Amino acid sequence: MLFTEDFLHYVWKFRLFDGAGLQTVNGDAIEIYSAGMHNTDSGPDFQNARIKIGETMWAGNVELHLSSSDWKKHNHSIDNAYDNVILHVVYRDDEPVILPNGRLIPALELQNRIPDELHSRYHNLVFGNQVIIPCEASIGKLDDFTLRTWFTRVLIERLEKKSAAVIAALQINRGDWEETFYQFLAANFGFKTNSLPFELLARSLPQNILAKHKNNPLQIEALLFGQAGFLHEDFTDNYPQRLKKEYNFLLKKYNLTPLENHLWKFMRLRPQNFPTIRLAQFAALIVNANHLFSKVLDTRDVKGLQNLFTDIKVNPYWEDHYRFDKQSKPVAKNLGQASVDILLLNTLALFLFSYGKYHQLQHFMDRSLKLLESLPGEQNNIIADFDSLGIKANSAFESQALLELKNYYCNYKKCLQCGVGNKILKLA
Ligand code: SF4
Repeated sequence: MLFTEDFLHYVWKFRLFDGAGLQTVNGDAIEIYSAGMHNTDSGPDFQNARIKIGETMWAGNVELHLSSSDWKKHNHSIDNAYDNVILHVVYRDDEPVILPNGRLIPALELQNRIPDELHSRYHNLVFGNQVIIPCEASIGKLDDFTLRTWFTRVLIERLEKKSAAVIAALQINRGDWEETFYQFLAANFGFKTNSLPFELLARSLPQNILAKHKNNPLQIEALLFGQAGFLHEDFTDNYPQRLKKEYNFLLKKYNLTPLENHLWKFMRLRPQNFPTIRLAQFAALIVNANHLFSKVLDTRDVKGLQNLFTDIKVNPYWEDHYRFDKQSKPVAKNLGQASVDILLLNTLALFLFSYGKYHQLQHFMDRSLKLLESLPGEQNNIIADFDSLGIKANSAFESQALLELKNYYCNYKKCLQCGVGNKILKLA
């Protein structure tokens, strides 16, 4: 069975070896008061350990290797960062380690102290046959408390990573939360297929220009459709003609440069999701709610947040159009519940978390988690795979956690750093 250095770290960190009568390979008694803090950066593997060797209490670092000769192979002898190593923990001792100053580094060999059963469970977990994830045979048997606790942890890791992008954008926008929110919301209004042009549109048309026209819906629509590059043609319908006239005036006034129209994708989209319809909805949202992010911060209940998006009315022209000058059967064009939930998940929950983290206001972070708990879970292949293993995503909180778990833990076999993997290994 394969033995890895990761597993040796795990065994040391949680002291899963037989600790009776511990001795260095030279016969000095060892008492471990603290195994140290696991260091995943450069330098020794565990820092600030406290270990009594013989009669002396030591405080310092611990380095781990499969074989003691790895010390030399890894060039630690010529690296001062390793001078303060107080104990060399090895699976197998094959040669002594002596520093250039003549100090012999005490070594502890664990080869005969690691329970076979633990090693075998680890081996089966990480290297066993698998179709979906390494622990697929066991995860469905775990207790709810272990799973939910771990899901919370990985979900927060996911939100922290994503909020780093929000904070970076906030800095570019000189601390303007409204502008930053507007840019992210626009990108998410593109719902993957048209995310990029929507994002470019928001960057080319600052929110403060739109704010100046908040009392004139036609001008808001003209700015958005014109900037998106949809108003170049010669139209026959009166509505796009009026938009074009307004936009040509505003274009000069603000010295705007419209996007290339070919950036927008219609192929393989249901007409309800055409970018023209999304732009009409986005315009209606902006007309309806000035300072939208402030409203989000002030709206405490989930229904109220949903209403910010459902209580919008697109221009009546779109009731029987999907594109300019092409009449179609009348169909309501308001945002559907599924689209609203995706916007709440991807934008509002993220911004509530980011705002709370940035200002160290825990209640906004809690509101973000509560919002995710109240939204339905996403449906995709990863969620379906977990479902087949008996792990159901009952909310967006859980589906987001599962996506993070799969993409950043399971795919890299980081089972030793995973709460699920830890529980599986420790189960008797
Ligand atoms: S990382 Fe965790 S959830 Fe994923 S396979 Fe390993 S133990 Fe299972």
